[in-house]
Amino acid sequence: MISLTDEQRLIQETAREFVDNEVVPKARDSDRAQRFDPELARRVGEMGYLGAPVAEEYGGRDLDYFTYGLIVEEIGRGDSAMRTVVSVVTSLVCSSIVRWGSEEQKQQWLPGLCTGETLGCFGLTEPDTGSDASNLKTRAEKVDGGWRINGGKMWISLGNYAKLAMIFAQTDPEKKHKGLACFLVPTDADGFSSQEIHGKLGLKGSDTAELSLDGVEVPDSALMGQVGDGFKIAMSALDSGRYSVAAGCVGICQGSLDASVAYAKERTQFNRPIASFQLVQEMIADMVVQTEAARGLVWRAGWLKDQGKPSTTETSIAKLYATEAAVNCADRAIQVHGGSGYVDDHPVERYWRDARVTTLYEGTSQIQKLIIGRAYTGINALIP
Ligand SMILES: Cc1cc2nc3c(=O)[nH]c(=O)nc-3n(C[C@H](O)[C@H](O)[C@H](O)COP(=O)(O)OP(=O)(O)OC[C@H]3O[C@@H](n4cnc5c(N)ncnc54)[C@H](O)[C@@H]3O)c2cc1C
Repeated sequence: MISLTDEQRLIQETAREFVDNEVVPKARDSDRAQRFDPELARRVGEMGYLGAPVAEEYGGRDLDYFTYGLIVEEIGRGDSAMRTVVSVVTSLVCSSIVRWGSEEQKQQWLPGLCTGETLGCFGLTEPDTGSDASNLKTRAEKVDGGWRINGGKMWISLGNYAKLAMIFAQTDPEKKHKGLACFLVPTDADGFSSQEIHGKLGLKGSDTAELSLDGVEVPDSALMGQVGDGFKIAMSALDSGRYSVAAGCVGICQGSLDASVAYAKERTQFNRPIASFQLVQEMIADMVVQTEAARGLVWRAGWLKDQGKPSTTETSIAKLYATEAAVNCADRAIQVHGGSGYVDDHPVERYWRDARVTTLYEGTSQIQKLIIGRAYTGINALIP
């Protein structure tokens, strides 16, 4: 039986209170207005929830991954748009700089990212390159003292607000994934532009952008790691990002369950609370089981990360299960709410719309299954 330490419990309760007081009250309005709320993102940073696992000397809180997951679960329960900020800034950007950045890069970027003063984005996906991440078309060419980058990135969370963009680019197409490199690009560089993507099904309170890099020049010091490390950096970032997405999805499961139990006890039909009907209890029981199972898988992945043990497969298992469970629990929650679940007086329809993307990004559910299958068979079925 896993039990939380007093410190973990306190951090969890503080995050829960913050989310209930400051995130939940704004979630519906941001969703309706389809507006990213940078002020709230800044508050999330002030609370120490961006860069929480980063060392204190760089502005983080030096928390372990397990405890970070507890915070992300709470924020995911409140609003997936804010959870996206935490996942991108902390797990994709900060974790990569901590692991692969030079001392100079750490000092330059981490303190601002951890407070939320500087938002960062993760530029891997391109219009023609999604699941096949090694096949990037964005080109980085060596010039005197630096690099010139040309290309485009698609579906980039926070791309219109970030001051820093992690850009993955090909330095030598003949080398395929071994030619990839990762650059820390200031978004005010000449030739860098972004455009908002409209019409999303969910995550309407989150910013999503298309990026264009038109002859963007960066100095040698912007290269993170070595030329050829790009693919490894992307995969290690996703390992961390998937954990964060999975933890946020446990929050969606829990929120769906909480809302359903409250509604089912209050709503009466046939002169009794709908919670007294066996078929309604079945839906609630299904949500309980999926929530607990998802949380258990996320906790296992977090624990392995903190032990420094291999956790890629376990993280994929947690991501696959928790994201599908979030879609399922939110769907069941709408069912429990009947017609009321179809409008945004209750959070459940937003949970469902926001959950839907989680089985797509940071590796689709199919890609997670192929990672798990490869680990157990030793055969790579990603490329038939
Ligand atoms: C709201 C949103 C935010 C995002 N934020 C970011 C971000 O911040 N940074 C970033 O870099 N990207 C981001 N993404 C992009 C996201 O990671 C990609 O959409 C995802 O990786 C899938 O790529 P794709 O859309 O090109 O789909 P495709 O790769 O074209 O996949 C289409 C379908 O084919 C399946 N498929 C593909 N290859 C295989 C295979 N080998 N075997 C079996 N099935 C396969 C997929 O599972 C899927 O069902 C975001 C996307 C969205 C929608």
